[in-house]
Amino acid sequence: MKYPPSNYPVATGVITLYFLLMKLTPKQIEQLKGRIIAIDGPAGAGKTTTATLVAEQIHFTYLDTGAMYRAITVVALQKGISPSDADVLTQIAQSCDLQFEIKQSVNHVIINGQDVTKEIRTPDVTSHVSEVSAHVGVREVMVALQKTMSENGSVVAEGRDTTTVVFPKADLKVYLDASVEQRAQRRVKDMVAMGIQTTLEEQIADIERRDAYDSGRAHSPLTKAEDAHVVDTSNLTIEGQVDRIIELALENIR
Ligand code: C5P
Repeated sequence: MKYPPSNYPVATGVITLYFLLMKLTPKQIEQLKGRIIAIDGPAGAGKTTTATLVAEQIHFTYLDTGAMYRAITVVALQKGISPSDADVLTQIAQSCDLQFEIKQSVNHVIINGQDVTKEIRTPDVTSHVSEVSAHVGVREVMVALQKTMSENGSVVAEGRDTTTVVFPKADLKVYLDASVEQRAQRRVKDMVAMGIQTTLEEQIADIERRDAYDSGRAHSPLTKAEDAHVVDTSNLTIEGQVDRIIELALENIR
């Protein structure tokens, strides 16, 4: 027999696919069903990618709370409203129609009928979102909406206060962390992939500024919940991060 056999690539592909699909048994998926997994941590720790993949693997809905604050910021910037105008921003949050829609495996963010999936990631929005999200009025509306969206459980919620304020009773709490350098490097990679030019220095400065703002704000500052499991992603691959969280879910959710 020729080695490798001629059907080797096909067989390898099938086996890989089998393991990918069978990572969790139906019994394990049933064990987690209806629960809430909350993931938070500082900017650039890998929350979005990790939470999306975890949700996909365990058949949960992914709730990107940061995207909600970013969508409000897009509307504010489009309308020329100052990120410091708490009253008007609260009104915008109260009256907006905010939805998520999965289209071709991409989580789209729709606000007032406008698809802002791309706009929410622009540097302009990124540099103003922390100020917008610091207003109590805006947060109250968003937190209430996040709770409503998660009423039926089977949700992986991701964002700064999801383990402390939004879902203090989450079935599993994870605090994703990584060094500032690592987080900035990932941001540069993501932004370059989106066609946005930036440098490592710019991203380090932006992450340090956002960390300080998010941790120092009066309302719902970024803090680690006492019962959160810390996962340091500095030396982990994305697959490693996803595996670790699923492992924690299976160990802690019974
Ligand atoms: O996670 P992401 O980078 O998309 O979040 C953008 C910003 O939105 C954060 O820097 C933070 O200021 C704010 N945010 C928040 N509470 C959340 C999620 C995000 O204040 N639950």
